[in-house]
Amino acid sequence: MPRVLNMWSTHQFWCGLFGALGIDRRNLVFSADTSEEQGRQFGKGRGTVDCCYPVKCIAGHYGELVFGQREKLDIVFSPMIYTVPSMLSGHVARTLTCPRVMAAPENIKGGFIKERDVFVEQGIRYVTPFVSLDEPKLVAKQLFEGGLREAIPGLTPSEMARAVEAGFLALRAFNNSLRKKSREVLEWCARENRACLLVLARPYHMDPGIGHEIEGDLQAYGYPVLWAQYFPTDPDLLEWAFGEDLRAGIIKSPFDIHDVWPSSYSANTNEILWGAKVAARIPWVACVVRLSSYECGMDQPTYTPVQQIVERSGTLFFSFQDLDSTKPAGSVKIRVETITHYLEKYAAAIIEKKKAAMPPGCPLPSQAAEKGPSASLAPSTAGST
Ligand code: SF4
Repeated sequence: MPRVLNMWSTHQFWCGLFGALGIDRRNLVFSADTSEEQGRQFGKGRGTVDCCYPVKCIAGHYGELVFGQREKLDIVFSPMIYTVPSMLSGHVARTLTCPRVMAAPENIKGGFIKERDVFVEQGIRYVTPFVSLDEPKLVAKQLFEGGLREAIPGLTPSEMARAVEAGFLALRAFNNSLRKKSREVLEWCARENRACLLVLARPYHMDPGIGHEIEGDLQAYGYPVLWAQYFPTDPDLLEWAFGEDLRAGIIKSPFDIHDVWPSSYSANTNEILWGAKVAARIPWVACVVRLSSYECGMDQPTYTPVQQIVERSGTLFFSFQDLDSTKPAGSVKIRVETITHYLEKYAAAIIEKKKAAMPPGCPLPSQAAEKGPSASLAPSTAGST
């Protein structure tokens, strides 16, 4: 499986699914993180015309899977993911993926069959089912008829259905474990009155070759880093953060963003908007870092609203836009130093200001409360999901 695009938020589903079909985890191979070397060695000459860097990178991942493995692979599995599960609800068209991301497996395949069919040549079956992961009842049929029936001889529809259930269970368990970890980090910050950072980005920016490890560089300065996609969704915390807006009828649920983003149409951008709302309310999120890729047409209209929501609360906001294949190490270093400089100077005041603006009854432990920090949550190890 290529480690690209929507695989970054759904990989546990696929691991759970193939595990339930009896495929040993050791026989599931993911391509490596995106890197220049990967593109040069395996993707060269097979790229397609697409200004979107995360899509372009797929050629390197496919090439690595087809030519770069020590053992021969039987199948390259690269689903066209049309919708993704989302925690958002209310007046939100919440689960659609970017159409270019969705279609990328067909698009990039072109580079591997244009002169001769490399998959056939290497004895590899290329399987690219169209799948709506937000509609669990459709998924088994889509996968079965979308290529797995032929790829796994003897596979029955009921086995497929059971495997899909196992996939969703695995995905939920993984997401919940990361949210639990984020809650622990937030509780530690509240207890110690320490600042953390929230990253607003698409899941594929977790790929070091796409997001350029900016969040890792920031974490090295001792600030825990959380990702909006894995922010805790516990009812007590969300009631505290959004209760007033709910009672005032501004939103229909804590996961409703229609008050700030009525034209919601893309799952990933919706989650970024939700993350901005959360960041504005949680006092210990003293800084937001926004990442987006070169010419991302879906992200562009969100730049201003996201920045305004965050900054209006007094939270620091920094964005790295137009990330692409050029890793601007020098300028990233300078900007990371700038961010940490502002945090050192202003984080304590930001936290106090935001605390004063919030209602009483924060469910995160107060500074005066019980125990000291747990070693496992020390800044050097905490947070980045
Ligand atoms: S348009 Fe944006 S979301 Fe879509 S593939 Fe390109 S960078 Fe990704």
